[in-house]
Amino acid sequence: MNAKKILVTGAAGFLGSHLCDSLLSAGNTVLGVDNLSTGNMANLAHLHNESRFDFERLDICQPFDPGKVDYVFNFASPASPVDYARLGVETLLVGSAGTINTLEIAKKYHAGYLHASTSECYGDPEVHPQTETYWGHVNPIGPRSVYDEAKRFSEAAVMAYHRYHRVNTHLVRIFNTYGPRLQINDGRVISNLMSQALRGEPLTIYGDGMQTRSFCYVSDLIAGILALAASNEHLPVNIGNPEEWTILSCAEEILKLIGSDKKIVFKPLPQDDPTRRRPDISKAISLLGWTPKIQLRQGLEMSLSYFQEHAETGLVQNSQ
Ligand code: NAD
Ligand code: UDP
Repeated sequence: MNAKKILVTGAAGFLGSHLCDSLLSAGNTVLGVDNLSTGNMANLAHLHNESRFDFERLDICQPFDPGKVDYVFNFASPASPVDYARLGVETLLVGSAGTINTLEIAKKYHAGYLHASTSECYGDPEVHPQTETYWGHVNPIGPRSVYDEAKRFSEAAVMAYHRYHRVNTHLVRIFNTYGPRLQINDGRVISNLMSQALRGEPLTIYGDGMQTRSFCYVSDLIAGILALAASNEHLPVNIGNPEEWTILSCAEEILKLIGSDKKIVFKPLPQDDPTRRRPDISKAISLLGWTPKIQLRQGLEMSLSYFQEHAETGLVQNSQ
């Protein structure tokens, strides 16, 4: 894409920091903003001397004006079930006020806009695999609702700014993504299991481990997002890897990779934990010519040195 000055919210997070790297590599100037509620400045440390990168610590729930920008990528939000359980009201606010504030920036400066939505919009899906036309099955008052409903509100807000204010908006529904800089202590399954295996601890499986997820490596995800941002599509597009794993088989794969003889321990399944999740990516393939390239085993190998470096220092939180 030809944009010159780009605003990335949630820049100090896992995905936001990788997005900043890709946008800078393509020659853009980037302003990253973040309130550091779940992010970490270590994710941006390598950009310290990058003259085309600036960072401001701020909360996007308060209106702010970054000056003229050509594009807004809105990635700010707690993202893991452990984080949004801890930051419930903050998650509702960032998905509502934060999204509106960033849409106002795009409207003011006639900038393009891409919002990081989620497979959680489908809730515990009754349609499998999930297509973008499925409206979802979300418990609006359950423990996950602070995230799911905030993201669904965000999608409604993005479509409204497109319809009523003609903002050039895009919605990506991201499925579980992993890779270096995934926070060690955010309780997500890959960060928990990789760091537990590396520390020689038993791997925690919630429920019987037969629930499924589809894991996308971060570079594949960012490539899909950049393709969507440059497209003319305004309706949601799934980006994820359709290879579907039970959580138990994912744990076994991690044990094989790390060569640990440690056991698996079973813990209670959190309420409303989705049973199955796999993206139908036909739309991304036909519209963007995008497909993921990296399968789980290879992506875990590519992430191994990051987890080896951080597994000892990171405190793993469990959702129990
Ligand atoms: P992350 O927690 O690593 O990053 C989120 C960033 O947003 C953090 O740096 C956090 O400090 C920042 N933030 C939160 N509230 C803020 C606020 N009010 N003002 C400014 N900054 C704020 O999570 P991530 O995995 O990088 O997720 C990034 C985005 O992608 C989120 O919107 C998330 O919902 C979405 N997403 C991620 C995944 C995934 O698998 N990683 C899946 C679906 C959707
Ligand atoms: N999970 C697990 N052990 C863990 C962490 C998570 O079995 O240590 C399960 C969790 O219950 C869910 C799946 O792994 O079924 C994915 O959880 P995660 O928190 O990564 O993301 P979600 O897809 O639920 O948002």
